[in-house]
Amino acid sequence: MVEVPVRKLRKEIFVDKFDMAVRALRGIVSRGELWGQARVGLVGFVAAFVLLVISGQLKTMAGEVVAIWIVDGYLLGHMLVLRRRNKPVFVIGATLGLVLGNLMGDETLYVAASFTAAGIVETCVAAILLPEVRSAKELLQPNVFVRFLVGACVVASTLSGVVAAVLLQGIFTAHPFSSFSNWVISDAIGLLIFTPVTLVMLSGEWRSLFKPGNRIVSLSILALIGIVATVIFSKTTYDDLYWMLPPLALLAFRAELSTVLLGTLIFISISFPLTIHGTGPLWLFPFATMQDRILALQLFTVAALSIVLPITILQTQRNALVSALADGQRRFRNLAERSEEVLMELSADGLFQYVSPRASVVLGYQPEVLRGRSVLDLVHPDDRSVLAAVLAQTWKIGVEESVQYRFRREDEAHIWVRSFISAMPSGTPGGLMALAFTVRDIDAAVVAEQTRLNEEQQLRDMVFVDSLTGLRNRRYLDSKVEELLSLPAYATSSPGMAVLFADVDYFKNFNDEYGHQAGDECLRTVGRCIATTLQKPDLVARYGGEEFVIVLENCEQAEAAATAELIRAAVESLALGHRGSPLGVVTLSIGVAHRKMSRLSDAAELFELADSGLYMAKRTGRNRVGTVGTVQDAIEVGESASSSAVTSGARRHL
Ligand code: GH3
Ligand code: MG
Ligand code: MG
Repeated sequence: MVEVPVRKLRKEIFVDKFDMAVRALRGIVSRGELWGQARVGLVGFVAAFVLLVISGQLKTMAGEVVAIWIVDGYLLGHMLVLRRRNKPVFVIGATLGLVLGNLMGDETLYVAASFTAAGIVETCVAAILLPEVRSAKELLQPNVFVRFLVGACVVASTLSGVVAAVLLQGIFTAHPFSSFSNWVISDAIGLLIFTPVTLVMLSGEWRSLFKPGNRIVSLSILALIGIVATVIFSKTTYDDLYWMLPPLALLAFRAELSTVLLGTLIFISISFPLTIHGTGPLWLFPFATMQDRILALQLFTVAALSIVLPITILQTQRNALVSALADGQRRFRNLAERSEEVLMELSADGLFQYVSPRASVVLGYQPEVLRGRSVLDLVHPDDRSVLAAVLAQTWKIGVEESVQYRFRREDEAHIWVRSFISAMPSGTPGGLMALAFTVRDIDAAVVAEQTRLNEEQQLRDMVFVDSLTGLRNRRYLDSKVEELLSLPAYATSSPGMAVLFADVDYFKNFNDEYGHQAGDECLRTVGRCIATTLQKPDLVARYGGEEFVIVLENCEQAEAAATAELIRAAVESLALGHRGSPLGVVTLSIGVAHRKMSRLSDAAELFELADSGLYMAKRTGRNRVGTVGTVQDAIEVGESASSSAVTSGARRHL
């Protein structure tokens, strides 16, 4: 075993852990990530620096009066859209930019740092007090906007003013920001306008300015604002500042959010410079200082914005609602038009309330023709009760039901349809329940199914039909007899069942004399004669060759013998010439068997008895009826003219 020194082991573990840590760090902060962070910091730095220099220039041009403080509004807007992990580096960049910008304005480092601290405190506090928003539209949602007004424009601005006042106390005796209110108000207006403006720019909402639909209206209103502001602020004759409100209100009502912000900027960039320059309605009042005059204009601007922005917010919401509604309607219309089914709404009493355009294709009715009519009036009379019952059931229980019935089309033809019906709230607000009702054309499918069933039935029939005579065949007879015997009622209460076996006499000779074709025709004629002689719809089958079987259900023995005699006589009286028979005409010999059935095996016995009866009829001269009780019974044979009893036990097998 090799001994590993403890120290070496520790060293190896340390190296491993270090490697892991480096790899983990590389994973968390990738090179791309670092570059991204650096870019965010740089943007913060440059933007803060440039905007501060511009603000400083504006301040100098305005005679050291600050009307609107732009920088903080931008910083807050940008902070809001940044991801959380990018915010610190943005603040660091902005801080450096602000310090540098202030130093460029010939401030001492302490003053520059104090101004910067006041600005950064304002931006950070406002950002903390606001929820995350990514666009101006989100910022202007009523509840967010209230937080923005209170948190940013009131709390953060005031706090910033306090920080500046505390830090700069005693340093400037007459510095431009000595007026606390001027600081707070210029910052508040700056935030109020430039935070949404920044969001509009960063989120891409500015593109709506160029939307073809509202371009002309928007540009006209913006031009109107520019003209009205220029007219009002370039002369000092009347106090007509209030005339600024109608175009601003018009803007709020008619324009998109980005246009509203642009309009506000136009108003500000005309009104403030002209006022500072020495014209406009504010020069009609005896303000002590320029700063007081600008304060009055600032207050007017805040008042104007407090009209414009809430209207814009409500309009934006309303537009969103309207477009959602239009979207929903368009989607529904598209679906309803393209759906294979006709979509309908039925009132409680079955009247059409809404009918989708598809009705014109499926049913031939224009939707407005059906509206107000009862669905039951358009249903095939035979199906009316079925549909009425389903409607009532759906109405009562509310579950979805499906029903197949015939609908009368506009061209009076009835087509098979399937409807799905379910209860739903009616379309009118606060309305009662209604029925959602769909109609699908299934006519082709139903007709095809019916044809198929008919054909199947025909095929089934053909299997059981004798092709020569059209009578039932032996296969049918077997199945039918079995079926009859399996009925329990048959075994108990029936008077009994009779089987008649009929065989054409000397038929071989008939074929020999007249040919096979004539023989076939003769069999058809005899078959027809037997079927028409029977009064009840009894079962007649061609058993094979020139033999026929008749099954008489629920019949007494005497009745069975009488029926056999009727058939025999009927065939004889057809007087079909038969040179090969000593009787001269085609005749039948018939064996009759009657039993009260109690066992299934009785059926076979019954057939044997009938066969025996036939044999005896043949034996005793043909053209006769042979009646048999049981196998052991004496066999009676009756001729048409005279009856005579013959005893016999011999069997003839079929
Ligand atoms: P019997 O009086 O004893 O019944 O004499 P038969 O000649 O009728 O009896 P047999 O059983 O000897 O002859 C039956 C004949 O029936 C034989 C056959 O030529 C004829 N036959 C059987 N099936 C058909 C058929 O489908 N068409 C025609 N034309 N003849 C048939
Ligand atoms: Mg025969
Ligand atoms: Mg025969």
